[in-house]
Amino acid sequence: MISGAIKCEEGGLPAENVVEARNIVKTYVLGKKKFEVLKGVSFSARKGEFLSIQGPSGSGKTTLIFLAAGLDLPDSGEIIVNGANLAEMSDKERTVWRRRNVGIVFQFYHLLPTLTALENILLVMELAGIPKKERTSRAMDLLDFVGLRSAADKYPAELGGGEQQRIAIARALAADPPVLLADEPTANLDTHNKVRIVKLLRKAAENGTTVIMATHDPALAEESDRILRLVDGAIVEE
Ligand code: ADP
Ligand code: MG
Repeated sequence: MISGAIKCEEGGLPAENVVEARNIVKTYVLGKKKFEVLKGVSFSARKGEFLSIQGPSGSGKTTLIFLAAGLDLPDSGEIIVNGANLAEMSDKERTVWRRRNVGIVFQFYHLLPTLTALENILLVMELAGIPKKERTSRAMDLLDFVGLRSAADKYPAELGGGEQQRIAIARALAADPPVLLADEPTANLDTHNKVRIVKLLRKAAENGTTVIMATHDPALAEESDRILRLVDGAIVEE
């Protein structure tokens, strides 16, 4: 079931790789031209680790985030997330699997504008099959976690960018997924809000969530536990 997810290190202590990418190749075809964006990328991320993937615009960070979320599949290589080999599932199975296993945060928040902050979180819980009687108290706990209990009944348009991103983080954590993926989560925010978001990602990691943040910003990457740099389609680890 969880082949590849659990490894034993020297001394017998289990070191759980929640995300494991092995020799990922991803090519985009545009007309007659082929662009090999990822040329054999391998990395792993452990439980509770705060990892960043840093590289310039166009280096393949978003591609890698989408692959880790099972929103796209590699041409070759394997991605194993929380014990599941993503290529072995059907699209439908991956969709169902994703609701429980991966939370995603994007640069532009992508909250549903017709729902309040609380309702945005409750919807994800419903899709993930969390029992109805647990949802509201868990959602309020998550709003506390991001410091926005008072914004529960506000609509996204009534909130600032930093607040919307904090709600997006609460929503991404709604199903208590083992993995949180954040693609340029602070690229649209001022310094004060950047710091808040990074602190929240760290706090999520301290709670045991594996956090993978893609960023073009080397200074932001420095805030994580470990940096993987994407250079010419390959990973260079620091
Ligand atoms: P990053 O997030 O690091 O900026 P991306 O993963 O978005 O990089 O893109 C990497 C490269 O792949 C870019 O050159 C981009 O133009 C190209 N690319 C991304 N998505 C597609 C797609 N769906 N079709 C064709 N090319 C794409
Ligand atoms: Mg990107």
